[in-house]
Amino acid sequence: MRSNFNCRGCGHCCLNLVDAYQGCVSDADVQRWQKHGRDDLLQWMQTLDLGPGNQLHTVWIDPDTGDDVERCPWLLDKIDGSGHLCCINTVKPDHCRNFPEHRQHAAATGCRGYDDPAAPTAFGVSIDPPVSRKKPVSLG
Ligand code: SF4
Ligand code: SF4
Repeated sequence: MRSNFNCRGCGHCCLNLVDAYQGCVSDADVQRWQKHGRDDLLQWMQTLDLGPGNQLHTVWIDPDTGDDVERCPWLLDKIDGSGHLCCINTVKPDHCRNFPEHRQHAAATGCRGYDDPAAPTAFGVSIDPPVSRKKPVSLG
């Protein structure tokens, strides 16, 4: 838990930092999704076998087209336009979970989560059961 940090749910990190949604996930992420039966997530990932004990898991890749996404498929838009929600918050990749790493990282990447520590936490919802994600959807 980072002290004096409150996510605003602005979606900036998910929308504008390409390595949030085009990059690699960890072995721990893959194991978490396997453990929770999240085939809906695993099908948006491709694994490159680089040799014994060395695998690269890349996300998010459209399972129908094989193309890299241009927006994270798990990002929801709030209907009132006030921000965004992650619909896989409890199982999201480690690199999302750990962003920003510290105050300086936030400042360097445009995250305002340290600006007002009294602001309410606003980001993250988990939808169960998992839903098929082909298009961005809105949530109230
Ligand atoms: S982590 Fe920062 S940039 Fe990302 S949604 Fe929260 S406040 Fe916005
Ligand atoms: S998985 Fe969630 S936190 Fe990560 S980029 Fe997508 S919407 Fe954002």
